[in-house]
Amino acid sequence: MNDKRVLGKIQNPQERIKNFSEVELGYTKEEALKEANRCLQCINPRCVKGCPVGIMIPEFIKYIKEDNIEKAYEVISKSSSLPAICGRVCPQEKQCEGMCIKGLKGDAISIGALERYVADIALKNNFTSVKNIKKNNKKVAIVGSGPSGLTCAGELAKKGYNVVIYEILQKPGGVLTYGIPEFRLPKSIVEKEIESLKKLGVEIKCDVLVGNSITIDDLSKEYDAVFLGTGAGLPKFMGIPGEEANGVFSANEILTRINLMKAYKEEAKTPIKKAKKAYVIGGGNVAMDAVRSLKRLGVDAHIMYRRSEEELPARKMEVYHAKEEGIIFDLLTNPKEILMDEFNNVIGMNVINMILTEPGEDGRRGVIEDEKSIHKVDCDMVVMALGTSPNHSALKDTEINLSEKGLIVVEESKTSHDKVYAGGDAVTGAATVILAMEAGKKAAHQIMEELK
Ligand code: FAD
Ligand code: SF4
Ligand code: SF4
Repeated sequence: MNDKRVLGKIQNPQERIKNFSEVELGYTKEEALKEANRCLQCINPRCVKGCPVGIMIPEFIKYIKEDNIEKAYEVISKSSSLPAICGRVCPQEKQCEGMCIKGLKGDAISIGALERYVADIALKNNFTSVKNIKKNNKKVAIVGSGPSGLTCAGELAKKGYNVVIYEILQKPGGVLTYGIPEFRLPKSIVEKEIESLKKLGVEIKCDVLVGNSITIDDLSKEYDAVFLGTGAGLPKFMGIPGEEANGVFSANEILTRINLMKAYKEEAKTPIKKAKKAYVIGGGNVAMDAVRSLKRLGVDAHIMYRRSEEELPARKMEVYHAKEEGIIFDLLTNPKEILMDEFNNVIGMNVINMILTEPGEDGRRGVIEDEKSIHKVDCDMVVMALGTSPNHSALKDTEINLSEKGLIVVEESKTSHDKVYAGGDAVTGAATVILAMEAGKKAAHQIMEELK
């Protein structure tokens, strides 16, 4: 039996750095069938244990083998309301695929790519998995339209609850819309998955800042329950001299301007200056998204990371794609100071080389500065991708408990406020789409249990 996974087609690197279209093109029918046929249909499927929402993976793959995509979609939809998104952006190598038995001796089954194959066909053909919803008279407000809020909304709506989502931005989707770039997750896919939630009766009110235009107190009077899925969108900075210069951005701001506001286009209402040379500071997935987006705008785009390639926290596939696209990695280097001209525009950085130390108790190697190695690099843009923390604007004038790290404290999914539940990055700190979805689903079930 062939143990190599079937690889779908991808856009050529030289072409794709000139556009924002999706890099991975997805399986054709022949490719999907071939890959599905590699699955052993395990009786005790390890892969399912690796999926935070417990999709019955062998079952949906069996339907792909039979070319019954409607049934395959029905199986996936029982556990996930955003499969076209998860199939694309889940860190599968650490989850379902990381557990697949085939991975022990060869390549794991490409579960994510197969899920995407099914979901894309379902979206194209308007398959619906939920029919005959019987409405009840209970009302739930959701704050935030990221994956946790959308999933919570979907679960409740399927059971007949009246759900209204409040979102501060002009478009729903949270990080799916403003963070993850088009070339990894087309916005048309996000829009379609949100449309299918609307068809379940979910109402979405955009441009509403909860905590200002309307408060949690107002919502808890008007609704039977409130779910907070407000994410972790507050960027961290380094606290080094010069960070106030024109041309220093957070990765979130750059990505929002590119993804949501298309600010790189000539006709944009709030255009961004296109840099000649930019350094993105950090080595995670957000850093890769920012640097690859800048490359597509024609910028000489670099990653600057203080550890070595082995410690890069980004997914291996993202690093591989970034390298293929000509991103330059300045490793074992860290900024000390951002330099600016008399008009406060960035003109470069003083940076220092770093030396790796032995691994600490957590198994992670530390770094120390090589004091004599300070040198200057030229650039006209610096983008900080150093992680994010929650922004609790929604909690204004409430006494909802926060942890020492500033995360919302929950018991199961309930906050210290009797009618308010929470989940996703606002509770865990920056994590993943599927974990946020799992939290939204868990909260929905607790809400339903308590409102019975
Ligand atoms: P979010 O997606 O952050 O959504 C929160 C929403 O709440 C936002 O829309 C926000 O505007 C809204 N909001 C906040 N405060 C208020 C308020 N007061 N009133 C009204 N609305 C409010 N994860 C993966 O699994 N795979 C990836 O490939 C991946 N790539 C990523 C790339 C980037 C650039 C980033 C930033 C993150 C990435 N992640 C990825 C992480 C993942 O996107 C998050 O873990 C996930 O989106 C968290 O979901 P959430 O629902 O908790 O919050
Ligand atoms: Fe794997 Fe994510 Fe799909 Fe679960 S939702 S099966 S973890 S790709
Ligand atoms: Fe198929 Fe792998 Fe899951 Fe077994 S563990 S059912 S081979 S996907």
